[in-house]
Amino acid sequence: MEAIQILNKKIANCKKCPRLSIYIRDVAKNKVKRFKDEKYYGKPLSGFGDVNAKLLIVGLAPAAHGGNRTGRMFTGDSSGDWVAKVMHKHGFASIPTSHNINDGLILKNAYITAAVRCAPPQNKPTKEEMNTCFGYLEQERDILKNITTVLCLGKIAYDATCKLYKVKPEKFGHNKLFKYDSIRIITSYHPSKQNTQTGRLTWVQWSSVFAKAKKLVLI
Ligand code: SF4
Repeated sequence: MEAIQILNKKIANCKKCPRLSIYIRDVAKNKVKRFKDEKYYGKPLSGFGDVNAKLLIVGLAPAAHGGNRTGRMFTGDSSGDWVAKVMHKHGFASIPTSHNINDGLILKNAYITAAVRCAPPQNKPTKEEMNTCFGYLEQERDILKNITTVLCLGKIAYDATCKLYKVKPEKFGHNKLFKYDSIRIITSYHPSKQNTQTGRLTWVQWSSVFAKAKKLVLI
């Protein structure tokens, strides 16, 4: 078995954070009305994409009714719609949508992961949960040997990425680029509904981040 498959299996079976383990199973059991006929995944999520990628995209954590339902990060919710559409536009994804794990979405030169692998209540993992899950990010970094650029979706993802590459966090903002000997880090607001529906993150701003990432990984 490939190293990434071994890691992903370990993640899927992880129960190190009692609060999150209970929460994701509870969400999967007590479904919301709009998904009442669906079978939820309800387990921790591993990353997915091209293991030879130069671009690593780091999110916060799976969404309770998005990734936790469909079994793939950024899949089956509005954040996933924004991610797939922009990645397709810039040549990182085979299709512009991300609805379910059998939709045929294939990432090219990009790998998507998150700071935390279990959907947290109110999208807020505790510091302890973030620290506990951090080891999986380190293992991914060691397996994904071609990563030159990390795109961080939100401040929590940015802080985790700085910790991962042992660099000092700068002031977080949208579409910033930080270059180090070991890695290049781009920051973006997270494409959550709270940001995309309030105009805090516009499509043009979102797309410009991926245009920047594309240029960097072509170098
Ligand atoms: S958040 Fe990470 S460490 Fe905690 S239970 Fe989920 S997979 Fe395990």
